[in-house]
Amino acid sequence: MKNKYNVIIVGTGVAGLNCALHLPENKSILIICKGVPEKSDSYLAQGGICCLQGEEDYQSYYDDTMRAGHFENDVAAVDCMIKNSPAVINGLIETGVEFAKNSDGSLDVTREGGHSRSRICFHEDCTGLEITSKLMEKVAARPNVEIVPQTTMLDLISADNECFGIVAYDNIKGEARKIFADYTVFACGGIGGIFKRSTNFRLLTGDGVAVCMKRGVAVDHLSYIQIHPTTLYTEKKEGRSFLISESVRGEGAVLLDKNLKRFTDELQPRDVVTAAIYKKMKEDGTDYVWLDMRAIPPEEIKNHFPRIVEQCREEGYDVFNECIPVVPAQHYFMGGIRSDLEGKTTMNRLYAVGETCCNGVHGANRLASNSLLESLLFAERAGKNISENFITVDAKSAEYAANNVDLTDYSEPDKILKEYKDAILEAIDKEKK
Ligand SMILES: Cc1cc2nc3c(=O)[nH]c(=O)nc-3n(C[C@H](O)[C@H](O)[C@H](O)COP(=O)(O)OP(=O)(O)OC[C@H]3O[C@@H](n4cnc5c(N)ncnc54)[C@H](O)[C@@H]3O)c2cc1C
Repeated sequence: MKNKYNVIIVGTGVAGLNCALHLPENKSILIICKGVPEKSDSYLAQGGICCLQGEEDYQSYYDDTMRAGHFENDVAAVDCMIKNSPAVINGLIETGVEFAKNSDGSLDVTREGGHSRSRICFHEDCTGLEITSKLMEKVAARPNVEIVPQTTMLDLISADNECFGIVAYDNIKGEARKIFADYTVFACGGIGGIFKRSTNFRLLTGDGVAVCMKRGVAVDHLSYIQIHPTTLYTEKKEGRSFLISESVRGEGAVLLDKNLKRFTDELQPRDVVTAAIYKKMKEDGTDYVWLDMRAIPPEEIKNHFPRIVEQCREEGYDVFNECIPVVPAQHYFMGGIRSDLEGKTTMNRLYAVGETCCNGVHGANRLASNSLLESLLFAERAGKNISENFITVDAKSAEYAANNVDLTDYSEPDKILKEYKDAILEAIDKEKK
């Protein structure tokens, strides 16, 4: 690693990668991630990615997004996301992403909760893996981009509300260092790692959000946390909860109580279905409810959901012949670092994109399959915004900011990350109250 780059991106999910792809190839770019790149939630996305189905679908897609978000969404962000969704999908196809197709060659689309029609492009039940690995191939081929895993961003280097880079900890060597940049982009993903039950990778603990809180960068709606209605119930206390994609319900699976009776409309927005499940679990005195996939034709289950079939088999369930136990778990963070439609935060030279940011597009509750789309689109816009307005930092100001950073303060990263986690939990609690 060098000491100075034009742009540092923290995060190797779809947001970080797509931002890199929209930065000029003559700028030096560093992308870091906390563990290995494959431990980014983007690789886990199952259901798919939304795409406007022609002009006549606009109002319906807009209404679905707003209704799911309890009308707290930023309307300009929603409009921007919906109108640009076909361009995002076309861009992915040009990058080599393969989506499921109908026999006439058109894109096949599926449906999830909260959507009043099918509009979700997918690749089996591993859309995120397909998209992220193709983006990664493209980014890795760029000579101007350095991807460095096992490197944890612990802080910003900043002064007078201007960002000059980051303090990064080399997890292998066990040492902290200052890395300077003209622009810094936080694409640090969600906060699931701070909760006991979550579908997120455990290392995603909202560090970007906590650092922003510490450095006076605005953050919004920290208590807007989405609980996914259906993760596979397991007796295991530790580890990531395995998601049973909402498109399983979109294709016909139903939720059943302990007497194997349906108790809710499975295709309502996630928060509504989650509330219905918790209520039923309480009434029945159970730790889970049942999900019955047997209404879906077996061929469709095999072709569309092979990984879900396999994971359930590993846990001892045969989805073709029996119900599986499911329970809600933390899944997505609607709040985060305040950012505008170009990914700009309230600190100069600092951008935030993807799940770590809050541009208001999801309001109080995200509509299914809007997050890959949102992450990709606004990361692209951030990359373009940096490119169009690029001004090299003033070296003296950067030196001044760096002089205030004492690296011995960062010799115990686990302690710092624990403090960050506690700060977020406390802020969530405070906001809830
Ligand atoms: C199981 C599951 C299924 C999902 N299914 C769908 C779906 O079907 N459709 C949909 O639209 N969305 C889905 N989502 C949500 C979607 O996957 C995420 O919102 C999206 O991928 C977030 O992308 P991101 O780039 O912002 O973050 P991520 O892909 O999570 O990447 C975050 C990156 O930041 C890095 N990082 C974090 N902190 C630090 C630090 N301190 N220092 C260095 N690096 C750091 C991590 O190492 C990682 O590389 C799903 C999520 C999960 C968990």
